[in-house]
Amino acid sequence: MSSKCSKCGENAVITREYEGRSLCADHFKRSVERQFKKTIRTYNLLDSEDHVAVGLSGGKDSAVLLKLLHQVFGERPDINLSAIAVDEGIEGYRQESIDEAKKLTSKFDVDLEIVRFEDEYEISIDDLAGEQERPPCTVCGVLRRSLLNETARKLGADKLAIGHNLDDQAQTILMNHLRGDTSKLMRTGFRNDYLENQNLVTRIKPLGEIPEREVALYSKLEELGVVDECPHVDNSLIRPKVKKFLNNIQETMPGVKHSLVAQGERIAKNMDAELEKPELSPCKRCGEPTSQKICRKCKFLEDVKQ
Ligand code: SF4
Ligand code: ZN
Repeated sequence: MSSKCSKCGENAVITREYEGRSLCADHFKRSVERQFKKTIRTYNLLDSEDHVAVGLSGGKDSAVLLKLLHQVFGERPDINLSAIAVDEGIEGYRQESIDEAKKLTSKFDVDLEIVRFEDEYEISIDDLAGEQERPPCTVCGVLRRSLLNETARKLGADKLAIGHNLDDQAQTILMNHLRGDTSKLMRTGFRNDYLENQNLVTRIKPLGEIPEREVALYSKLEELGVVDECPHVDNSLIRPKVKKFLNNIQETMPGVKHSLVAQGERIAKNMDAELEKPELSPCKRCGEPTSQKICRKCKFLEDVKQ
């Protein structure tokens, strides 16, 4: 039996167990858009005169992020939008997602900057396939984060918007709890300027309160391109296990991801003054801010090239 929209009685496209209601396509899309604006307002993610660079991966999350930012702020003369796509050198998968990024940015008339691991670091993630000590995802994450920050800074961006959804946020927060890593917990908020370093562009996550399956449904309803999964995705790492655990537990506790994320924000806010922040200084190799002498990116690059 198909359910009906709790607002208008039309056929529903989704049932939200965490709210106990179903919504038709129209009311669902409006509700996602409302939530997006509410997150930006509540956590003060954007300011007038901001240049916002959007990290585009070719996947559903960042495509929805760019679409919503364009829809809400595209006409605002005081907000400037641009996009960055990182090519990690992943045969087959990455070219497709770069093409998708080009299509999206031309549709929304947004400038796109494409940066490549091969050009910046002289390695590609495909080179690391099969590595046990340094699985591709671990290196990829560190290198991509660094390159996105450097590129956003070079573009003069005030904010770097990334497409993390509620599920990503809940996973990250739980992982930091499991590791007992309070300092990292402080950096998982919707607006991350915790370390207050002028060389770190403030990262914002406007989709952080929208569940993954709703971002996927929104992208399907809006016909935004979705690219297949990266061939190096590694299900033995902690994150996919935490993801599975949260999805299982959600069946009996439908609001568990929302509660975790809300609690993470509260902890970060209340502990901010109490915690000693790590001192950052320029990396001896690349000059990027780090709490060590040599940053993680440079250590990885050194190991990988040996
Ligand atoms: Fe990089 Fe891993 Fe994501 Fe592939 S799955 S793009 S290797 S982080
Ligand atoms: Zn470095």
